[in-house]
Amino acid sequence: AQKRYASLRGLPAQAMCGTTVGLHMNAGLMADLPSLEGSGAEGVGLFRTELQFLVRNQMPRRAELAAIYARVMDAARGRRVAFRTLDIGSDKVLPYMKPQDEPNPAMGWRAIRVGLDKPGVLRMQLQALIRAADGRPLSVMFPFIAERAEFASARATVLNELDRERALGRRVPEKVEIGAMLETPSLAFAPDSFFREADFVSIGGNDLKQFFFAADRENERVRRRYDTLNVSFLTFLEQIVARCAAAGTPLSFCGEDAGRPIEAVAFAAMGLRMLSMRPASIGPVKALIRQVDLREVRAVIDRARAEGAETVRPALMDWLSRQGG
Ligand code: PEP
Ligand code: MG
Repeated sequence: AQKRYASLRGLPAQAMCGTTVGLHMNAGLMADLPSLEGSGAEGVGLFRTELQFLVRNQMPRRAELAAIYARVMDAARGRRVAFRTLDIGSDKVLPYMKPQDEPNPAMGWRAIRVGLDKPGVLRMQLQALIRAADGRPLSVMFPFIAERAEFASARATVLNELDRERALGRRVPEKVEIGAMLETPSLAFAPDSFFREADFVSIGGNDLKQFFFAADRENERVRRRYDTLNVSFLTFLEQIVARCAAAGTPLSFCGEDAGRPIEAVAFAAMGLRMLSMRPASIGPVKALIRQVDLREVRAVIDRARAEGAETVRPALMDWLSRQGG
């Protein structure tokens, strides 16, 4: 199978119906970057920036971060890298920050909430990204945006930093894309203006699923209790796809489920056109997408939905097993 995946490396994830799905990889370490060539990923759909903060025993300096981000962009050789700003709190605690004693850290003071309340670190990180880009295009996304106002403030912070760097006479990126991660159900129901204002939206399925089903992603007892292919969840995704399409906003899915071939095919059938996953998943996901007609997959999903199924998984597995691929 490894050999078969390697032979697909230069080929697009084009389904039998002609629709192509962009496959990108998730990364977080310099060591992940060589996989960009090996996996055939089109770019980095999610670069988790917390690791550089977690491996140190003090806050990294701006120049250090800028050097790391520049190396990431160099390694990407012009491919898009979506840098996700610091997502700390919840399961990720910085050793040099005062621990917060919170009863429910996953729903607590985390991610963009910290970034907006104490903007020093966020601004430093944005400066590092702008300097690292050194004129090249830059793509930034904010984690855990729950409402339009949070995105508007985060976006304004980027624009301010760009002005500041410009005033200091530094080169600023030729193009800056500012996106939001959709990880709380509330954002799916934000006003239209949010979807128009965001340059792109990326679904953080790990968190989105946890909050959609109210099932702690860290809790072994419940984390697999609800199926991603549950009709409620797929219907919810379909609504997000429709809202982004109406606003003309590119949408991707970057949670772990994007790397599971059956899930990936179901997401593509619901209208997702960009998936980001761990590099090793790109081969298997591409292989399956290339074997199916997404309109047929959609028909299987719609039929299972109409018949009142809880999850479309059995119907989809059954249909796939009859494709003889
Ligand atoms: C997610 O929540 O799906 C996501 C991609 O971010 P993380 O797993 O880092 O929370
Ligand atoms: Mg998340």
